[in-house]
Order: sequence, then C-alpha cells, then structure tokens
Amino acid sequence: MNKAAMEEADIVVIGAGFSGLYAIWRLRNDHKVVCFEAGDGVGGTWYWNRYPGARVDIQSVEYSYGFDDALQQEWHWPEHFSAQPDLERYANHVADRFGLRDFIRLSNAVQSLHFDAETDRWHVRTAKGDVVSCRYVIAATGALSVPNSPPWPGRELFKGPIYHTADWPREGVDFTGKRVGFIGTGSTGIQAMPIIAQQAAHLTVFQRTPAFCMPSGNKPLDPAFERDWKANYPQRRKQLLETYGVSTIQYPEFSAHDCTPEQREEILENAWNSQSAFQLLVCFSDVMTDRAANEIVCEFVRGKIRQIVKDPATAEMLCPRTYPIGGKRLCIGNGYFEMFNRDNVTLVDVKADPILAYTAKGLCTAGVEYELDAIVTATGFDALTGSMNKIDITGLNGRKMVDKWANGPTTYLGAMVAGFPNLFMIHGPMTPGAQAQMITSGEWQVNWTAGVISDMERDGYTRIDTTEVAEKSWADEVDMVSEATVHKLADSWYNAKNIEGKKGGFMIYIGGFPRYSSLCAAAVKEGYKGFVRR
Ligand code: NAP
Repeated sequence: MNKAAMEEADIVVIGAGFSGLYAIWRLRNDHKVVCFEAGDGVGGTWYWNRYPGARVDIQSVEYSYGFDDALQQEWHWPEHFSAQPDLERYANHVADRFGLRDFIRLSNAVQSLHFDAETDRWHVRTAKGDVVSCRYVIAATGALSVPNSPPWPGRELFKGPIYHTADWPREGVDFTGKRVGFIGTGSTGIQAMPIIAQQAAHLTVFQRTPAFCMPSGNKPLDPAFERDWKANYPQRRKQLLETYGVSTIQYPEFSAHDCTPEQREEILENAWNSQSAFQLLVCFSDVMTDRAANEIVCEFVRGKIRQIVKDPATAEMLCPRTYPIGGKRLCIGNGYFEMFNRDNVTLVDVKADPILAYTAKGLCTAGVEYELDAIVTATGFDALTGSMNKIDITGLNGRKMVDKWANGPTTYLGAMVAGFPNLFMIHGPMTPGAQAQMITSGEWQVNWTAGVISDMERDGYTRIDTTEVAEKSWADEVDMVSEATVHKLADSWYNAKNIEGKKGGFMIYIGGFPRYSSLCAAAVKEGYKGFVRR
C-alpha cells in the first residue's frame, strides 16, 4: 500500500460498544479519532444480544455512564435491571447527544492491524477497504463478542432455522407452534428460555451442566430510589470505584462458620428474596474463598430447586453438583426453574448422552434423534481473546498476536501486549472484565489510557511498549489472586475451559478493582514501570 494514499488519524478506536463510545468522547477534542464498528448500530453487547429476555444483571443506576452529570440526571431507566431495548436506546442516545456518530464507521469491521516500526504507526485495514494510519489503537472489542457455536456436523442438513442468541435477528423470531430445541443453560439461556417456552409448542432444553440461578427481583425503578441516586451520583460513582466489583454489592464481615444453622438459613432466605442480584454470593465473607462455606450456599440453592420444580427427577437433574456457586458467573433469572413445571418443556441431559450432530429433522445423540422445527444455541463466547484473535494483528518483527497468544493471552495490566506497541485494550484479557461493573470500570480504563497517551505527547515519545518481564509479573499476579478463590474449581469462559481445545489460564483479574486500578496508576507514577517509551 502506498503510504501517501493512507488516511491519517491519531487514534483508531475499534468497537462502538459502551467503552468505545466513551473512548471517542474522551479523546475526540484533542485528537483525530476514527472508530470502526462491525455492527450496523452502536451498543456492542447490547446491540448484538437482542434475544428474548436479554437484560443486564447489575442495577441500571450503576450500570450507566458517569462522565456527564447532565446525562445521568436526565436519563430515566424504566426498570431496576434494564432490558436490552433500553440499553440499546441509551447507547444511541449517548451517540446522538454527544455527536459521536461523526466519528463512527458502521458495518466496517477492522480486519488487520500492522505496526510500522519505522514510523511508530499502526496501519488499519477494514472490511469496507478503509486504510488508516494512526499513532494509537484502542481495542474496545468486547470481552464477550465472538459467539461460540457448537462443533457438530450436519448444520446444512437441518431444514429449520438455527439461531445463536448473540446474533439474533433484529426483526425478532416467532416460535408460535414450533418445536424448539435450546442448547445452553448459562446466563443467556436462562434469560431466553422462559420467554420462548411461553410461545413455542414445545421446548426441549439440552443441558450439559446445570446452572446456579437466583431470581433477579427485577421491578419498575422506584422513584424515591432513583431520586436518591441522582442526588448523590458524584460520590456514588467514586465509591463504586473503591469497591471490589465496582458495584454496591458488598461482602459482610462475618463468615458462614460464625453463624448457627438457623442464622444461616435466615440470611440465605433474605438474600434469595433480596431483589438484589448476586446477593447469595455475598451472604458471608467467605462464600468465594472457602469451599465449605460455598457448599452451604450451594445446598440452599439445591433446596430451592427442589421446592420450585414439581417433578423430583427433573429437579435433581437441575441441581448443580460439579462446581462451586460463583465459580462460574452466577445466573440471574426470571422464572427459570418455574419453567420446568410447564407441560411443554422437557429437560434432556446431554452430559450423559452428548449431542453428536444436526440432522435433517433436528439433533441426534448416540441413542436418540430429537425432531425439532427450530434450534437456538446459547453456547457462549470465545471470550476475552476471541475478538482480538479475529483481527490479523502484526506487531514488531512480523510477530502475529495470534501466535504470541497460541497458549493463552499474555498482557501487562491487561492493557498492553509486549511487541505490539501503541495498542491498548479496554476490558482485555487479564483485566477485571466481568468481575467489575463494566461501564464504570471501562470509563476508568479509558481515562487511564488517555492519560498515558497525553503523557507520551507531553514527553515527546512516539512509541510505548511493555516487556515480557512485565507480562510475566502480571501473569503471576493474576494467578496469585485467582488461586485464593473457588473460581479455579469451575470450568468456564474465565479460564478458557468453555471451549474444547482453547488454551489459556485464568483470564480475568479477580484481585478486585481497587487493587487493579492502584497497580495501573502506580505503574504510571513510578516512571512507567513495566513499560518502555521512546
Ligand atoms: P456461557 O455462560 O458460556 O454458557 C454457555 C452454555 O452453553 C453452557 O451451559 C454450556 O455448557 C453450554 N454449551 C456450550 N457448548 C455446548 C455443547 N457443545 N453442548 C451442550 N452445551 C453446550 O455463555 P452465556 O450464557 O452466553 O453467558 C456468558 C456470559 O455473558 C455470562 O457469564 C455473563 O458474564 C454474560 N451475560 C450476562 C447477562 C446479564 O447481564 N444478565 C446475560 C447473558 C450473558 P457447559 O456449562 O457444560 O460448558
């Protein structure tokens, strides 16, 4: 490519989800910013995941932007936990209100990034043929944006439609009169199935691993609660950043072992009915760190399943036994277990008898062919690394990111990768990611990145990289904090074990956001420790 023909920018932002939108807003006045987005609308996760029942599981007064006080004062969330249409509407409102659309090129995914070591600039190529040279790239590509589809053969044989919840038709789907097969009982499946079951003639749920699920307690937003948040927003946002998960969900001081069985039962019952998602995980100080304390909560949920689900055999199949509660992200539902009391819902165990293939009529296991009119897969994501590995990224000395990450991601602070200078990730692998409320923590990460870029200009540098030594120190920190919790006892997208053959260790930083942010801030303060600038 003739360099003279390239369009010039200062910063390319990849992705117009919530972090990408904020990155544009934060950097647009001081830099020439171009943002490329694969979808034909803004909102990222909340653009793609428009399946029935899609809803956030963090209360919306928290899960929203804090960068503009007028915005947070004026915006009204109709519900406590907002549904996808409201979240998408909010993303569009922000894009319009702050004039961000002028910077965004929709339906134009970035296909390759190539670092030019002579000029210290990235060359960015896109699906529509745009070629941009820029000093910095900010990858706000999403932790959960590349759908994972089941590997079964015969997809082309099946006569009916096959949907993935993360790529749901904009016009919706009418399942009236249909026999629907549903695969995936994680957070997504648990939200979608109770709604599909109300419409479909029959719903067959193919379950590989049962899920722990607690009721969301969603409700219309209480006006007094909303007024209270709006009156206190600046300090609330600041306080959120000082908490483990950037959220109002807090651990108590006492252990499960400090309580009598009666006290435990009362605490757990209150948590279940709290209308505050995740409360079960913070009933006691040690739910996430002590296997015995965790098992007390697990058994409580199994008891709830047995109470709710009328058929004892189905109830037992729904009881999770192979991993601790919270080891995988706790699912938050509305009528999930109750759904199994419907006459038109059947539960099938595909751990014992796995699905082997699509057929012309539906799906087959070794022993059974299931006849279906439509199939829905809610089989998760190639999480954290998928969205970066999808782009052909070439760093120094021709090294490809996909090769460097062949055995799992390596990063420093989850923000940069050695040998790939001037490329920053937001919510990348080895950041707190989904263990911290993602809008507020995303704003923090963008602000940190903007500070690094501003320092580069102030100090007259054109290249910032990290080192393999720094990456190793970060890997040790990520491993050390994950060893302390029960997360290591579950196979999930946190540790790359949700996809057969995927490599990588624990890919989320679970040392808490205050520790994460103070380590990022300290690296800068201590003369860019772990970075090399020139
Ligand atoms: P997920 O948690 O990875 O769940 C995927 C499900 O598909 C699991 O039940 C998995 O079974 C099953 N599965 C995958 N491959 C299969 C196969 N070949 N055969 C049978 N079953 C298979 O994905 P997700 O439900 O989309 O959720 C991902 C994350 O998105 C969540 O953890 C959460 O962070 C986020 N999310 C949040 C919300 C919210 O805010 N409310 C809603 C949805 C999602 P195994 O467990 O056996 O692997």
